[in-house]
Amino acid sequence: MKRLLSSLLLLAVAAVCVTPNWAAEPAGKAKIRVLLTYGGHGFEEKQLFAMLDAMPDIQYTKAQLPKPDAGLLKPGLEKDFDVILMYDMVGGIAPEQQKAFVELLKTGIGVVSWHHNMGANQGWDEFPKIIGGRFFTKPGEMGGKKFGVSGWDHGQDMNVTVVDKEHPITKGVKDFTIHDETYNKYYVAPDVKVLLKTDNPKNDPNIAWVTQYGKSRVFHLMLGHDHLAWDNPNFRQILNQGLHWAAGK
Ligand SMILES: [Zn+2]
Repeated sequence: MKRLLSSLLLLAVAAVCVTPNWAAEPAGKAKIRVLLTYGGHGFEEKQLFAMLDAMPDIQYTKAQLPKPDAGLLKPGLEKDFDVILMYDMVGGIAPEQQKAFVELLKTGIGVVSWHHNMGANQGWDEFPKIIGGRFFTKPGEMGGKKFGVSGWDHGQDMNVTVVDKEHPITKGVKDFTIHDETYNKYYVAPDVKVLLKTDNPKNDPNIAWVTQYGKSRVFHLMLGHDHLAWDNPNFRQILNQGLHWAAGK
């Protein structure tokens, strides 16, 4: 009897160990499905795509804004993509596309707003509310404060301080230095949670933050002008962990 019981126990253990064919693929193994938006600002395409190709846990599709792909940003996109990686600095999208984008963010699709994306959609005042900041290409107003044109400077060495070392996006990343473009005199929404700061005098202090819009998790990463920044392993780790976090995975 004892022998029969242990045989039954073994069988039960074996049954649990064998993955039944109806079980979903474990979440840890599924690739993050990324829609990469670009347009409105040049960039080193070959090196950028090579960096993303080197991330084995993501797969991405390119979308050029505003034409031909701005119409993709509407409810339903969340079925095919986990996160939108926004590297566009689009001048603007049509009012009906703005509305559809806001509706899409009610579905909880992730958003990673990256570098010059802070300067996108200058004529659309909801956009800084989505990404938690604005780089001004012309004088404007945000949060009851007037802003002049924001500034930038290429080829700067920036000390980066990790403000929140426990956040999933910055976990495992120590303070580092990066060769990148500085931005200054931009707007950051007061309710964002800041993850990275710099003491570079040519840059405003807050350079990465998270916020929420609709049901969507939003991560803005100011760093990342060109391959000199993209080749920095800390940068790659933060971008990769940011995609995972925004995707909710
Ligand atoms: Zn740049």
